Amino acid sequence: MKAAVYYSPQDIRLEEVPVPGIGEDEVLVEMKACGICGSDLMDWYLKSRAPLVLGHEPAGIIVKAGSKVEEFIVGERVFVHHHAACLTCHYCTHGDYTLCEQFHKTHIDPGGLAECFRVPAQNLKIDTLKIPETLSFEEATLIEPVGCCIRAFRKSNIEAGDTVAVIGAGTTGIIHTVLSKFFGATKTIVSDLIDYRLQMAKKFGADVTVNPENEDLEAVVKLETDGIGADLVVVTAPSIEAIKAGLNVCRKGGKICLFAPTRPGKYLQISPKELFFSEIQIIPSYSTSHLETRTALELIKSDRVKVKELVTHRFKLADTAKAFKTALENRESLKVIVLNA
Ligand SMILES: [Zn+2]
Ligand SMILES: [Zn+2]
Repeated sequence: MKAAVYYSPQDIRLEEVPVPGIGEDEVLVEMKACGICGSDLMDWYLKSRAPLVLGHEPAGIIVKAGSKVEEFIVGERVFVHHHAACLTCHYCTHGDYTLCEQFHKTHIDPGGLAECFRVPAQNLKIDTLKIPETLSFEEATLIEPVGCCIRAFRKSNIEAGDTVAVIGAGTTGIIHTVLSKFFGATKTIVSDLIDYRLQMAKKFGADVTVNPENEDLEAVVKLETDGIGADLVVVTAPSIEAIKAGLNVCRKGGKICLFAPTRPGKYLQISPKELFFSEIQIIPSYSTSHLETRTALELIKSDRVKVKELVTHRFKLADTAKAFKTALENRESLKVIVLNA
């Protein structure tokens, strides 16, 4: 079968690889659609593991099922989460599923950007979801990113009446914008350096948009919040500058959610004195567990999050290199999807 093998962001090759064999409690899925995530574009994160097959936002059809598989049958349409927690370790029993050791070890084989992939038993058991008839494969690929955003809001204890500031209006920044309203935010302020993304954020429910190249974000947030600052700031942009901007617009006693990592070796200077007296909470949120993927599916299914409108570009599996180039360089792109027709 064919798979898109990642050597570097500029070097992705379509290669022939063996079709993975499956165990008696596993299934083989034919990929139909797979999203490209911001983390797929972070070479520092992937370099040590390259060459590898990326793609952790896949949806497809079960084409083979092991003899002991009972919950699923051949022909079913499924979304598969690439990570699955063990549910019994210390982290899991404390609700920190994405920190579970098994969560990191489990992954689909070889990856979503291939004609087919194997779903390990734990992923099948814990976090493989049947796609309702009304949803397309393309829409189902958004279950994972929407799940990540739901987890960020749940961890941050967003409250009804909050003013939320979102720094970075890529796909997940826009999903946060939409979700902020479901979680009860009454004002959502979105900041990005790209005007196209701000227009999209407006379309998806942002009350105020700011391009810091032309406007002072801090001044706008102060003006919109009677000088208080945002109750919750979500930083989706992977940079120190974005986090600093987030801290500057967060109110005393507010929360700032770190939704993306910065490069290794980058540090942020914080004064414990200021942190202490401001009581600002810093809350990182990594990935999604099986709980949020289920909520994400419900929200997508009921059209609460119109994910179809987030997809701006589609490519064939053979053109995965072009898909990466678009996701990296095209300023008028949001979600880029690879299709295996
Ligand atoms: Zn992702
Ligand atoms: Zn665990």
